[in-house]
Amino acid sequence: MTAWVTRVVAPNPGPYTGPGTNTWIVDAGPVVAVIDPGPDDDAHLESINRRLGGRTVGVVLVTHGHPDHLPLAQRFAAPHRASVRRYPELGDNEVVRVGSLNLTALYTPGHSADHLSFLIPEDGAVFTGDLILGQGSSMVTYPEGDVANYLRSLDRLAALRPRILFPGHWDSVSDAMGKIEEYRRHRLEREAQVLAEIRRGHGTAPELTRRVYGELDDKLLVAAEMTLRAHLRKLVDDGAVRERREVYEAAP
Ligand SMILES: [Zn+2]
Repeated sequence: MTAWVTRVVAPNPGPYTGPGTNTWIVDAGPVVAVIDPGPDDDAHLESINRRLGGRTVGVVLVTHGHPDHLPLAQRFAAPHRASVRRYPELGDNEVVRVGSLNLTALYTPGHSADHLSFLIPEDGAVFTGDLILGQGSSMVTYPEGDVANYLRSLDRLAALRPRILFPGHWDSVSDAMGKIEEYRRHRLEREAQVLAEIRRGHGTAPELTRRVYGELDDKLLVAAEMTLRAHLRKLVDDGAVRERREVYEAAP
């Protein structure tokens, strides 16, 4: 690695956030880039500034607008006189130069519609936000998320053949290609499972969620139903499933 990367974990652990949101600090010579300042939390703000130890913040990058990634950004950036950059003002393939470093923004929608990943080409390092997590599977939100886009974003990432991933939650991933493949396989298996379940018998989205996922606690059930609805929309778009008055059935 030419860039030195450290992180500060936000104090927002939970079923969707794992141990908490990762705020990544990327050393770029005399200045740093800060990626995903996280939730608007006084203690977290203090922790990030303490870790910076007076270094200059060149830019603040945000992978996407979800409440565990974005809200602290302006408040953190303002006293450092750093700009906050995120989609759509920051577009696909745009290069952000900070100190000695070039970070390329990659538009990678699917988890959310506004999702960027950030690539350090020389290092094969990608900051993946919630496209890929260090552990478990990422949810595809509904209605803004999109399974077809999500799979395309994974393919795009794989084509870059990255060596290391720095995700929005949990630890960095050194088997980057293995992890991308694992996520791809997981999504495709889930799709096959949803389709098989509908072929077994029609149902509404909540019914199908219970049939596919089994018993889940209430918090996870919301995420599961969202991801299932995103899968249903792709299956309807693909012509494999049809919907009538909220009931989904296999297309003949
Ligand atoms: Zn998110």
